[in-house]
Amino acid sequence: MDGGFIRIGSSSASASQSSSSAAQVSSNNIPPHLICAICQDIAIDPVVPTADKINRLCNHFLCRTCEETKRAHDQMQERAITCPQCIKNYTDSLPDEDMARKVQDFVQNHPGVFDRKTYDDLVAERKESIPLTIQIYKTISENADNLSTIKDRVQKMFSENNTDDKEIKRILFSIIRSQLEKGNLEAAKKLVHLIPQTIGKCLLSEVILFANF
Ligand SMILES: [Zn+2]
Ligand SMILES: [Zn+2]
Repeated sequence: MDGGFIRIGSSSASASQSSSSAAQVSSNNIPPHLICAICQDIAIDPVVPTADKINRLCNHFLCRTCEETKRAHDQMQERAITCPQCIKNYTDSLPDEDMARKVQDFVQNHPGVFDRKTYDDLVAERKESIPLTIQIYKTISENADNLSTIKDRVQKMFSENNTDDKEIKRILFSIIRSQLEKGNLEAAKKLVHLIPQTIGKCLLSEVILFANF
């Protein structure tokens, strides 16, 4: 299930001496309660699942772009759209204003974590990443039997787009996760190798663990 075989928080051990315990932040510097269940990064423009367009279905939230991408993906597979955390079926999403405020505050108070981008910059960036995500999905489904082609094409897409490292990681994590859920272990491994340094290695070990247990 979506219980989370990928935990980015555990992967990039930072060298900085852990400053006292004041703020509970994971090693990618985002507090766990602000993290989107799909991309495992801070939930930008968060939305909640709803089944009646008025009331929230559960207490979970996702980035708007992650939700849209997941929904498109579920519809393509002709399966019910479900909350990745509680697996309840839903039909639409609503903005999560309360969570959005918390995320905005965090972004504003921790500019260093976001390369000095504003919350609005991050919202715009996420929107731009959707076409790239969809291109990668297409490449994977069209080249399922040719994994080095997937790797080459995805690498080319990133080099042709003005996407920064953090956003590239976010996109890759989200796609790797969906490939794991579909059981496409080989595609997931190829994509893991596109993620630089430690995080990539750690993810690869989780992929292998997932494959064996
Ligand atoms: Zn997300
Ligand atoms: Zn839920």
